[in-house]
Amino acid sequence: MDYTKVAECYSVLEGISGRNELTRVLALLFKETPKSELGILVYLTQGKLRPDYEGVELGLAEKMALRAIAGASGLASEKVHRTYVKFGDIGTAAQKLLEGRAQDTLFSERLTLRRVHETLMKIARKAGSGSVEAKQSLLLSLLNDSTPLEAKYIMRTVTGGLRLGVADYTVIDAAALAFLGDKEDRAKVERAYNVHPDLGFIVEELASGGVAAVEGVRVDVGVPIRPMLAERLESAKAIVDKMGGKTVAAEYKLDGERLQVHKSVAGVSLFSRRLEVITGHYPDAVELVKDTVSAKEAILEAEVVAIDEDTGDYLPFQELMHRRRKHGVDKAVADYPIALNFFDALFVGRSDLTLEPYSARRKKLEAVLKVTPRTRPVPRLTTSLPEEIEAFMEQAIQDGCEGLLVKDLDSPYRAGAREFAWIKLKREYRSELTDTLDLPIIGAFHGRGRRTGNYGTYLLGAHDTERGVFTSIGKVGTGFTDDDLTRIPKVLKSLESRVKPSNVESKMVPDAWFRPGVILEVIASELTLSPIHTAAKDRIRPGAGLSLRFPKFTGKIRDDKRPDDSTTVEELVSMYNRQLKKLGPVR
Ligand code: ATP
Repeated sequence: MDYTKVAECYSVLEGISGRNELTRVLALLFKETPKSELGILVYLTQGKLRPDYEGVELGLAEKMALRAIAGASGLASEKVHRTYVKFGDIGTAAQKLLEGRAQDTLFSERLTLRRVHETLMKIARKAGSGSVEAKQSLLLSLLNDSTPLEAKYIMRTVTGGLRLGVADYTVIDAAALAFLGDKEDRAKVERAYNVHPDLGFIVEELASGGVAAVEGVRVDVGVPIRPMLAERLESAKAIVDKMGGKTVAAEYKLDGERLQVHKSVAGVSLFSRRLEVITGHYPDAVELVKDTVSAKEAILEAEVVAIDEDTGDYLPFQELMHRRRKHGVDKAVADYPIALNFFDALFVGRSDLTLEPYSARRKKLEAVLKVTPRTRPVPRLTTSLPEEIEAFMEQAIQDGCEGLLVKDLDSPYRAGAREFAWIKLKREYRSELTDTLDLPIIGAFHGRGRRTGNYGTYLLGAHDTERGVFTSIGKVGTGFTDDDLTRIPKVLKSLESRVKPSNVESKMVPDAWFRPGVILEVIASELTLSPIHTAAKDRIRPGAGLSLRFPKFTGKIRDDKRPDDSTTVEELVSMYNRQLKKLGPVR
C-alpha cells in the first residue's frame, strides 16, 4: 500500500471532529488496506509502532528532527527553525519547507506503508554509540523519498506528535464497521482487545478470520490483560446499597504499585498498571513468585508495597521510587525491601479465570499461593454491614493503607473497565476533600525566594478524551519538598516545548510549556468554576471552566500512568456535580 494514500486519509481525518465520521473514514481506509498490512496501519494511525506493552518508543528529539528537515530541504537550520516556530508544529514546517524543494531532489521512489513502518522500527531500535547519526540518516532517507504531505505525517509520527484523535474504541468501531456484519459482535472484539491489548493484531484477525477468529483470541501468559478499575463512592453505606445489600469483600487498598504477574516455565514477567514490562525493577518479586506460587503457569495481580523489614509495616508509596533507577537496582532491593499482596487470579494452570466470579478466583489464588512474611493474599473482610466496613476502614488506615476496595464477589474480571463491581472508599471523603486527581504538567512558572532558579509553580492539565486535548485546570505550588523541586525539572526536560503543544489548551501562558507526560497526584479542597481555565469549558456554565481550590501535590509522581490515563474532564464534571449535591445548591 502506498503511504500517500495513508497520508491523504490522515489529512481528511484531521479535519473531522465528529466521532461517527472519523469512524466511517477510518473504516474505508481499513477496507482498502491489504489484510497483512492492517496491523502496521493501526499502530501508525495511533502514533505507535507496536502495541504499548512491547515498549517500542520512537520519540525522536525535536533537534534531531529539525536537522533531518534541513538535510532533506537543503535549507539552513535557522530557516527551518524559524518556520517551525512560526507554525508551532514540526509536521507543517516539514511540509511547507519540502514544498519548496528543488526539482532534481524530488522523490525517486514511492514510499510504501511497509517501508515507513520498517524504517521507523529501525530508528526506534538503534541504540548505543553512533545511534544518533544512524537514526538521522534513516529519517533523512525517508524524507528524501517523501512528498511534502507524507513528510508532514512522518515528522509528526517520529516526534510523537501525530494526533488524529483515533482512540482505541474508534479503531474497534471502525474495524467492526469494515469487517463485521452484525453489530452485536462488537462486544466480542472489545473483549478480545481487553484480554489481548494489541489492536493491530486484533484488527488483522478480524479482517482475515471474522468473528470466529476474534472469539478465538485467548488470555495468554506473557501478554498483559487490561486492568479492571474501580469506581468511587463516599460512604460504606452507599457502597453496600449500590451492591444491592449483599455480602461483599472489603479489602485493604494498599498504597503501592500494581503488578500483573505472569509466571510460565520460561520465567516470570511483571507488567505495570499501564502494561509496561517492569520486571527489572523488582528482581526480588520475581524470586518471591518463583518460590511461593505453586502453579506452573499463572497470571496473578498484586500490589507491591515497600515494607519496614524489622516490623513488617507498610511504608509510603514514595519508597518504591528507588526501584525506578537504571543502575543500582540491587542496592535498592537491599535497602528498600518489598512485600507482595496478591488480590486476583486471572489465569491458573491452563484455565482462563477471567469469566469466573471473584469468589472463585480468590479461592484459586489462595490455593496456589504460599503465605510468607513477604507474600500473602490482600487482607479482607466479607460482610454486608456498613458498620463493619467502616471499622475495617479504620484498621486499614491505621495499617498505612489509603482506604478500602470493596468488591462484588459475583463479578467476573471486567478487563479494561471501570465499573461498580469494584468501589474504592478513601479517607479523603471524610473531610471536605474530593478524591486525589492525577494531572499532567503542561507548563511551569519560574520560582521566587527560596525557589529562585527553579520552577516554583506548575500548570496542570485535565484530559478531554473526546477531543484528545489537555485543558488547563489550575496551578499547583504547594506540597513540594526541596528534593521534588530539583527532581521534577529533570524529568520534565525532554518534554519541554518552545511553543504551546498542539494538544494543550490554555489561556494562561506559563514561562515554559511541556508536552503532557509527567503526571502529578494532587489533592484539592474543592472544584470551582473559573473564567480562566479551559477544563470542562462551557460544560457547567457558559464561558466558565473548572479549576482547583487549594491544590496540593501529594508527593506522588504517577509515572505508572500515561497522560491518557490521567483524570478526565468527564470525571471532573461528575465530581463537581456530586460535590454540589453534598454542599447543597449554590445560593
Ligand atoms: P488511584 O489513584 O485511586 O490508585 P487508579 O486509577 O490508579 O486510582 P483505581 O481503579 O482507582 O486505580 O484503584 C485501583 C488501584 O488500587 C489498583 O490499580 C491497585 O494499584 C490499587 N490496589 C490496592 N489494593 C488493591 C486491592 N486490594 N485490589 C485491587 N486494587 C488494589
